Amino acid sequence: MDQMSVNPNVHGLPLSPTIAINDLSDALRQRGQRIFKLGLGQSPFPVPTTVVEALRANAHQKAYLPVLGLPALREAVADYHRRNHAVACSPEDVIVGPGSKELMFLLQVVYRGDLVVPVPAWVSYAPQARIVGRTVRPLATRLDSAWRVAPEALEDLCRDTFGHPRILVLNYPNNPTGTTYSPAELAALGAVARRCGVIILSDEIYGELHHTGAHSSIATLYPEGTILSSGLSKWCGAGGWRLGTFVFPSALRWLLDAMGAVASETYTTTSAPIQYAAVEAFRGGIRIERYLWRARRILAALGREIAARLRAAGLRLADPAGGFYLFPDFAPHRAALARRGIGTSLALTTRLLEETGVAVLPGSAFGQSEAELTVRIAYVDFDGARAMAALERKPPDYEIEPSFLADCCGDVLEATDRICGWLADLYQSGSARD
Ligand code: GLU
Repeated sequence: MDQMSVNPNVHGLPLSPTIAINDLSDALRQRGQRIFKLGLGQSPFPVPTTVVEALRANAHQKAYLPVLGLPALREAVADYHRRNHAVACSPEDVIVGPGSKELMFLLQVVYRGDLVVPVPAWVSYAPQARIVGRTVRPLATRLDSAWRVAPEALEDLCRDTFGHPRILVLNYPNNPTGTTYSPAELAALGAVARRCGVIILSDEIYGELHHTGAHSSIATLYPEGTILSSGLSKWCGAGGWRLGTFVFPSALRWLLDAMGAVASETYTTTSAPIQYAAVEAFRGGIRIERYLWRARRILAALGREIAARLRAAGLRLADPAGGFYLFPDFAPHRAALARRGIGTSLALTTRLLEETGVAVLPGSAFGQSEAELTVRIAYVDFDGARAMAALERKPPDYEIEPSFLADCCGDVLEATDRICGWLADLYQSGSARD
């Protein structure tokens, strides 16, 4: 009955940082503190009205659905990927689960191979591998190359681990860096993966939030080896609905079947009303297109504005291209931070929260070394419904201006300014920046 009976893979495993920062931010707010919630990456936008209506109309759906998903939804998902991303797939290739996070976990349970994780990476890939007992092979990426995986680096890693079954998790638009890949870069990575027999788990959950709508899927370039992961959480503003999807190449049908078997012994099926509503989301249509068009424009303008302010404060960061994250590096302020006793990204984010009320996550939560001074900013603490409504009232060719952002996303800009002001204060004693 003591702690020694805990599975050693789980022993000492902390709460996932995205969840922990959200809980902490809420607790501090409840105590009356002004907290800017830029920690958890949750869409600021509402679920599109048509999808909410579909959920309402299907509240009575109470039966267990097939383990791989509602047939109409599997069809809608396959059709969505064919239509939007030119991915050749059929409903039989699709599995629906209670969040793509759960499907990723399931994949690691059923596939006995190493997990190649480009770092920095979303917080949960590596802990999931650890829970299941898989080996994680980090693949370092650098700010100077917009945090993109170099095909040569993948090839080198494959050479070193020749003969090992491997899954590479490729996530773009990327969490935590906000950058993405061009079709040519994807083709080069796909070619290496093909040569080296690596399965790619392509986490495209932010695909629809590519800031110019130009997302393309590596599943079109390496179709036989790519598992395409998506879901409702980000583009449909429905993180709490918990609905994720995987599309498998037919060559990996055995893996899909194995996932179905394990799913049938664990969660059984995904919530029925949510699946019925999701059919509406994946079918798309003009109202969803207009919703996405507005979401992309707001996120693009806001990301650009925050990046400009952070750069003016001396931080280094890549240009945002999709989703709602930025990953600035505070290294240019290292000496001034050290004088305040701050030498790690965790110390940095802790002090930022204490001294400015801005909640962000440390780079170390994303696999960066502790002494590296990166942080992830999720620029989502604003009323997305209000921002969308305000944009709707503008002419179609309206270019979003700082005044629009100040009106609709004021807290996010204030949080940015608080970070910048806090940095400026580091030099109040008169010492110069290194
Ligand atoms: N993907 C989101 C994030 O990185 C939150 C969801 C989660 O971590 O489960 O903040």
